[in-house]
Amino acid sequence: MERLHLVSRESRARDTIVQVGDVKIGGGHKVYIAGPCSVEDAEQIGEIAQAIKDSTHILRGGAFKPRTSPYSFQGLGQEGLCLLREAGRLAGLPVVTEVMSEAEVEGVADSVDMLQIGARNMQNYALLRKVGAQKKPVLLKRGVAATIEELLLSAEYILAEGNTQVVLCERGIRTFSHTYTRNTLDISAVPILKQITHLPVIVDPSHSSGDWNLIEPLSKAALAAGADGLMIEVHNRPDQALSDGPQSLKPEKYRALVKKLNRLVCLLEEENR
Ligand code: PEP
Ligand code: MN
Repeated sequence: MERLHLVSRESRARDTIVQVGDVKIGGGHKVYIAGPCSVEDAEQIGEIAQAIKDSTHILRGGAFKPRTSPYSFQGLGQEGLCLLREAGRLAGLPVVTEVMSEAEVEGVADSVDMLQIGARNMQNYALLRKVGAQKKPVLLKRGVAATIEELLLSAEYILAEGNTQVVLCERGIRTFSHTYTRNTLDISAVPILKQITHLPVIVDPSHSSGDWNLIEPLSKAALAAGADGLMIEVHNRPDQALSDGPQSLKPEKYRALVKKLNRLVCLLEEENR
């Protein structure tokens, strides 16, 4: 095992609490991050933000999209950032979006409250150093073929540059099993990470499964395993979404899910008391 230093509970026993706008993540603060895979236009992101604002802590939406094919929708770029920020402002929610290159870090950090490093960039060390050297909190997603140790070492890069505001995200890994799911949710990563590191750990059931029907059971499993929150894709018209429609919940389904999950969180808190 490579030496983990700053991310380890040996260097800091108490849970780190990450602050995104007025929202706290970790140390008992559970968070729901929700919104579309991609920001598509003002009406789409505005409508979704308004529909979920009472059940959501942080609004998500991709502007720079890491698509497997160069011919797929690549995101609205700078315009998407502006639309996301405005939708968040009107809904009273802080916003998170992915940043894909070093050159874009400053511009994105100026526009949003939290920077996401996507699965495909988990080992882009120059990018990790760059987000580590600025002040906005970072949501670091696990690579599809990354071990738990590699995820922690990537977080170590960010902390080593001075930014301790890092949230880890399990989003499913590549396994032999992909007939019914897009990826395989590594649920055991949650309690293992919580043991090793003081950083908050959330789960993304949307990219883990690729199927909106699986969001509820995977979300429950994640919270039961000790996750500090969830990141869930929500779209007002999933059948017309420009990316990840099949895994997106409609706002009303998402709101009903959050009600159930809040009850589960209360039960779990009682259990752990
Ligand atoms: C996303 O959150 O929209 C995304 C692209 O996720 P990942 O990097 O986990 O594939
Ligand atoms: Mn997506």
